[in-house]
Formats: sequence, structure tokens, C-alpha cells
Amino acid sequence: MHYRPMGKLGWDVSALGFGTMRFPLRGSWTEINEEQSAAMLCYAIDHGVNYIDTAWRYHDGVSEEFLGRTLTREQRAKVRLVTKSPIWLIESKTDFHHFFAKQANRLKTDTIDIYLFHAVNGERWEKIKRLKLLDEMEKLRREGRIKHIGFSFHGSPNTFNEMLDAYPWDMAQIQYNYLDTEFQATVRGLDYAHSKGVAVVVMEPLRGGKLAQHNPEIDLILQEAPIHKALVEWGLHFVMNHPGVATVLSGMSTLEQVEENIAYANSFPSGGLSTPELELIERLRHSYEKKIRVPCTSCRYCVPCPEGVEIPENLSLLNQAVWEGKTLGWMHKWYQEFESTDPYTYWHGKGAASRCTSCGECLSKCPQNIAIPDELVWVRRLFEEGLSVDQLKK
Ligand code: SF4
Ligand code: SF4
Repeated sequence: MHYRPMGKLGWDVSALGFGTMRFPLRGSWTEINEEQSAAMLCYAIDHGVNYIDTAWRYHDGVSEEFLGRTLTREQRAKVRLVTKSPIWLIESKTDFHHFFAKQANRLKTDTIDIYLFHAVNGERWEKIKRLKLLDEMEKLRREGRIKHIGFSFHGSPNTFNEMLDAYPWDMAQIQYNYLDTEFQATVRGLDYAHSKGVAVVVMEPLRGGKLAQHNPEIDLILQEAPIHKALVEWGLHFVMNHPGVATVLSGMSTLEQVEENIAYANSFPSGGLSTPELELIERLRHSYEKKIRVPCTSCRYCVPCPEGVEIPENLSLLNQAVWEGKTLGWMHKWYQEFESTDPYTYWHGKGAASRCTSCGECLSKCPQNIAIPDELVWVRRLFEEGLSVDQLKK
């Protein structure tokens, strides 16, 4: 495993970090397949991964509980354990400490290595300032309950820079990949954080798996590559190529993905990517940009919807249809199963797009700023009214 400096913190972090939002499941999002997930964690730690990232809301709290139950004392000593304060649920200092105590309890740890404000945007940054929550973070650090203070970010470039100027953060977690260099914090924000010695941790290096999807045009670009790498490998190497990136979080769902991602972290060239390699990534970026309609990362921050619409599943179907250039039989079958009452169908009860009443409740929760109700109208028109993909309006 390669290790990189963790900003100004004086320790090195594995180039690949383990994100725990996408553990394999036995059923619903809260039913983690513990046997498989434990094997994945074991493999990762045995192969040098020393950074594990979780949050209050991952698997509705079960991710933290599972880590607390599963990490052995020896494993815990080898890793930095990171979790995040659910700032959207906090209305007072008391709330902040209430959630922290529950999280520390779930994780069964005396000290959380890095505690973050989760998914900060302009509104949440105002709340952090109004409630003086940085003072509370400092208090936890003085008491030895946390070691470092940071935030994960889904806001505008201006908010990101304002936050960096307002406080000497230890780390910032941002979305960065070869499609998102001008999105949210942007690459300039990454540069700025790096210049201040803030450790930058990257999430969504593959845009929620979209940059791992093949099609004939992508495959042709890969065949013509000066150096042969897997599609995921190109995505991870692009992120690792920025010297300001400390570690790349990958939300892995199978042991095979863990094995592959560790191999890709190890294959990153020590001198960085060459010009032909960067040109190849530029071709991949162009090809994907044409094909991805909705930048949904399946983070699930938007659910539950009061009407029961399973938003990420619907948007995934929309992207699949645009990707293929048409709706296919299996897509219609899935969509029908979104309203199925048969418990034995795979997608039963997922909540079809036509349930949406355009109440707008999901809009402020989406870190990707997707116009969710508008996109759901297109899902309905594609899968209920027989519209073709060619008729989809941008
Ligand atoms: S706008 Fe539609 S999808 Fe969003 S919360 Fe309201 S009903 Fe649900
Ligand atoms: S619509 Fe937005 S909030 Fe919902 S899963 Fe997709 S990216 Fe996340």
C-alpha cells in the first residue's frame, strides 16, 4: 500500500480509504451482510488500509454499530476511525453532544480520530456558526474524545473558501473525480485547502459507480490507451494524481472490489500520470459527459420521501435508459416492480416516480442539486407514458 501525508497532521494515510456507506446487504439498507462486510474489512486492514470512514446516517446507523461490534482491538489500533456529526438533525449544543455520545457508544471507542460536520453547505455552515459548534468540537478535542476536526462538503465554491478561511481545519472531505473538477469545492478549492495544509479526503471518486460503467465507446477508448488499465483504475488514478489528495474513499460492496481497489492504489505510478494518460482520461470524460443525464450518486440523503418515492432507484433507471439510448424490457420490468405488492419480486414496493407530488422536500437534501421532481416527471413519462429517450428534453 502507498501512504501519503495526511495534511499537516504528521501521520501518513493509506492512498485508499474504506468508505462504509455501501456495505453488502442481506435485504434492506439497514441489513448489512455482516459476514461479507467483516471479510472485506479484514482484507483491507491486512493489506494496509488505515482509514475507515463512517457516518451517523450510513445504513441508518447500522454502519457505526457494525464497526463497533466488528473491529477487533488490534484492528482498531491499526486504523484511523472517522465519523460525522448529522448537522441537519442538530438544533442546539445539547443535540451536538447527544449525537456524539451515541456515535462514540455505537463505535465502542474512547476516541474518534476525526470528527466531521457532515455534508456541509451554505445553510449548514451558517448553523455551525450560529450554534458555535466549533467551540463544542474544540471541547471534545480538549477532553480527548476526538483527535481532529473536519467537515465533509456539498456546497458552493464560495462557502468552501469561506470555511477554509474561518477556521484552521484538520481535514476536508470533498467530491472529486474527472467529471466533477468544477463542481462543489472544485479543483481550485482542493488546491486552496492543500495550500493551507488541510488534509483533503476525496469521496465519490467514481461518481457513485457511474465511472465504472462500460459501453462500446468507452471500451474503444480503453483499447486505444497507451497503457492498459481497468476503467476503475483510471478513475482512482486521476484522483490520486492530485498532490493535495491525502486519501481516496471508495465505498466498496464486495470483497472483489476491495481486492481490485487495493491493487489499483498500489499500481499508481510514483511519478504521477503521464501526458498521454491524462489525455486518455480527458477522452473518457467527454464520452461520459454525453451519456449521464442525472449526477445522482445514490447517496440516499433524499429519502425517505413522504410519498414513498424511491428516488435513487428511479433516477438510476433514468440514467440507464439514457445510457442505452432507449428503454429496455428489464427496465420496464423493474419499474413495474416498484409498485409490486408481491414480496418475492426483487424491487417490490420501491415507490414509482408517479407518486411524486412535487412537494420539494427532497430538493434541499440533495448534495448534487438535482431537480428531483422534474427528473421524476421524465421517469414517469418514459416508463408509464411510453416516451422515447430521444424525446427527453435537456
Ligand atoms: S418532491 Fe417528490 S420525490 Fe421529492 S420529497 Fe416531494 S414527493 Fe418525494
Ligand atoms: S437524488 Fe441526490 S440525494 Fe438522492 S440519492 Fe441521488 S444524489 Fe443522493
